[in-house]
Amino acid sequence: MSTPAEPTYESTHSALWHGFADMGAVTTKGPFVVSRGEGAYIWDREGNKYLDATAGLWFTNVGHGRREIADAVAAQLGSLAHYSNFGDFVPETTLALAERLGEIAPVAGSKVFFTSGGSDSIDTAAKLARRYWHETGKPGKKLIVGRQKAYHGMHVAGTALAGIPVNRENYGELMPDARTVAWDDAKALLALIEEVGADQIAAFFCEPIIGAGGVYLPPQGYLQEVRQICRDHDVLFVADEVVTGFGRIGGSWFASTRFDLQPDLMTTAKGLTSGYVPMGAVFVAPHIAEPFFSGGVWWRHGYTYGGHAGAAAAAMATLDIMERENLLQESARLETSLHTHLAPLADHPRVQEVRSGLGAVAAVQLADPAEALPFVGTLREHGVSGRAAGQGAMQISPSFVMTDAEVEELAGRILSALG
Ligand code: PMP
Repeated sequence: MSTPAEPTYESTHSALWHGFADMGAVTTKGPFVVSRGEGAYIWDREGNKYLDATAGLWFTNVGHGRREIADAVAAQLGSLAHYSNFGDFVPETTLALAERLGEIAPVAGSKVFFTSGGSDSIDTAAKLARRYWHETGKPGKKLIVGRQKAYHGMHVAGTALAGIPVNRENYGELMPDARTVAWDDAKALLALIEEVGADQIAAFFCEPIIGAGGVYLPPQGYLQEVRQICRDHDVLFVADEVVTGFGRIGGSWFASTRFDLQPDLMTTAKGLTSGYVPMGAVFVAPHIAEPFFSGGVWWRHGYTYGGHAGAAAAAMATLDIMERENLLQESARLETSLHTHLAPLADHPRVQEVRSGLGAVAAVQLADPAEALPFVGTLREHGVSGRAAGQGAMQISPSFVMTDAEVEELAGRILSALG
């Protein structure tokens, strides 16, 4: 028997358990340690520079290294780190942020419920949908419908209602009354409603662009069609804009605004603070909030750090930057730029297709899904920090400050990594 190689410091002594990882593999290879970021670039601990193709996990919309956000958070923590927004408490900055978000909400007069991140937002929306029907005399409406390929975070409800079966395996039943339908066919939703009855269905959760499931753009007219089906059958339409919200869709704050979806509930996180600190928010249309605001209903739900004052300060600073630097327009520019520069990669024999043309997102789908993980490593050797999503897609979701020249450079580096 051969003697195993001397393990590195990282592989024997790191206490870290990574998310979404085969820790055996991570332990063998050691972690990719990121030390610094600036604009559309990051640096590893050894000082190597990488073009950040994914803006972290789809969140650094305003780019890395914004001193302005750090300063806003520091000033907030120095005066009041946080208090609570349970009962009638609320930190002053959190209240101001809620008002500001109310002004850009896709549905006028929306209420804003703060969370600590995307998964919290999803579970909040799932509970709120069921509770809404209870409060309005239809307690039988409990079924939550999601879509195949969809990703809705990793809390129990979100894992159950999403459409990535491997994420649900081997836990037993996570949440009763959850079903999924085809991701790309509005008729599948209609068929399910006819099968189980609208009087059983609370809500339909819909990512305007399927993100972590592999970046799949909605077929033409799909979003409007499922929205209308929900309206016709008294099923709440929940837009999961954790990825698409706060400008990722290009040209507007939300996909729901761009496609005039008028969601009953809208879940957000990531771009709200550009990921500088964790925060999420659920936008609640006024007719859904009404039973909870008319007196006598206690909603026993909330998170200690929901609406954290430091996070609210980061969100305010993020929104300031988005507005001052016209980053919604920059995201629209990237929609075209990614499409133009990445499309030619589809001709490469190792590439099955390139999905792009809506928002500052794209996917380079490898012909062999098994190549995706090793390709992330090859990309790093070519100076790109990338990520695999879905079945063998390379996720492209840069920060909105990435220039057209950098997009061109990114496409060139991907091409040379493809070989
Ligand atoms: N919904 C969608 C569409 C997401 O992409 C994500 C995160 N990738 C989530 C929910 C969960 O967000 P978080 O990881 O912040 O809990």
